[in-house]
Amino acid sequence: MKSKLQPESLMMTHGYKPELSEGAVKPPIFQTSTFAFKTAEEGKSFFEVAYGLREKEAGEETGLIYSRINNPNLEILEDRLCLWDKADQCAVFESGMSAISTVLLEFLKPGDLLLYSMPVYGGTDHFINYFLKSIGVESIGFRPNQSKKEITAQIEASGFTSKLAMIYIETPANPTNELIDISLCKTIAEHYSTKDKKVYLAVDNTYMGPIWSHPLAHGADLVMYSATKYIGGHSDLIAGAVLGNNEVMQRIKVLRTFLGNMASPNTCWLLMRSLETLKVRMEQQARNAHEIARFLKDHPQVSNLYYLGTINSSDPSFKIYQKQYSSAGAMIAFEIKGTEREAFLFLNNLKLIKLAVSLGSTESLVQHPATMTHAGVSPELKKAIGITEGLIRISIGVENHADLIADITAAFHAVK
Ligand SMILES: *Cc1c(COP(=O)(O)O)cnc(C)c1O
Repeated sequence: MKSKLQPESLMMTHGYKPELSEGAVKPPIFQTSTFAFKTAEEGKSFFEVAYGLREKEAGEETGLIYSRINNPNLEILEDRLCLWDKADQCAVFESGMSAISTVLLEFLKPGDLLLYSMPVYGGTDHFINYFLKSIGVESIGFRPNQSKKEITAQIEASGFTSKLAMIYIETPANPTNELIDISLCKTIAEHYSTKDKKVYLAVDNTYMGPIWSHPLAHGADLVMYSATKYIGGHSDLIAGAVLGNNEVMQRIKVLRTFLGNMASPNTCWLLMRSLETLKVRMEQQARNAHEIARFLKDHPQVSNLYYLGTINSSDPSFKIYQKQYSSAGAMIAFEIKGTEREAFLFLNNLKLIKLAVSLGSTESLVQHPATMTHAGVSPELKKAIGITEGLIRISIGVENHADLIADITAAFHAVK
């Protein structure tokens, strides 16, 4: 059912019928493994739909069977997540990595070629370069600043051109906020698609979604999230999500049923609570990030600032920024003048901002990519993507921005 209301107006109620739960305003946690059928005929009919033995009739909903297949908390949450990205369907997973690995496993077979942007999240990189490689899936990486001509030349040179099955990108790239043009990747995917073999485009939208960017609207077939980050938003759960049209999501949900990596009712319930404040949290985080970036921009101890709101309008990525994003987001990276010593002194002297990996939460978090999130990246790639000893990444939270700036100021003083 299409609604004219904005997603933020529907996050408290959409997809939930209080009359089915004793009138409870909030969905209870359906802590049950299985569901009683009214009759044997009903059980048979539910299974026919769940196992794809027959198409759903008009208006028919998938019946509740068993919590690995479906559960009210999982379904209500998925219905609500669909609203932000205007997706047909959503599948929620027990982690961002299980969402990503399930997508890669479903759409890539031994002998296939995967084209992916570099850098991607460390876990994703490992899955591509160790696990997928071990089962015979070839992959080639490209850099955000490469042109379409350069990327296609790389595909042709690989010797696996006809085997290209998926393009997988992460934009903005972590940690330096480099941007990739989603519609350009779509034209590459279309160029290599044939009547018998579609090349799918998948986008990890963890950094900017689902509020500030909607990759499906730019031609992506699949959008993925670590819901551990902004969607969860309180550093108290691990979860992931995948969204797309009915065709791709049917495939994803079937594989999820057999891998058994769906999120639990309890995690889904927590995520629904988080979704109610998603927009206000992210907007406050972006406002804070703007203030902090302004403070860092001309700071004498800062040599490089990576923030979408300060991209020069003459920079080629400015056009991508304007096209794909409705906010500069709340992720900032900057280079402190000096080496690892200065970076560590700075990190060790922050008090309000916690030293931890992860991002997107209500509390601000800071980390050192070269020795933490990107410790496994080769020295050559580190150099190419600007991960230096002085690079520091901050995920800005919802605190008072003046308090955050005071904390940063004190840490800079300690370095001097
Ligand atoms: C954290 C993260 C992941 C992995 O998600 P988990 O929930 O930790 O499994 C994937 N992609 C990006 C961009 C991330 O930040």
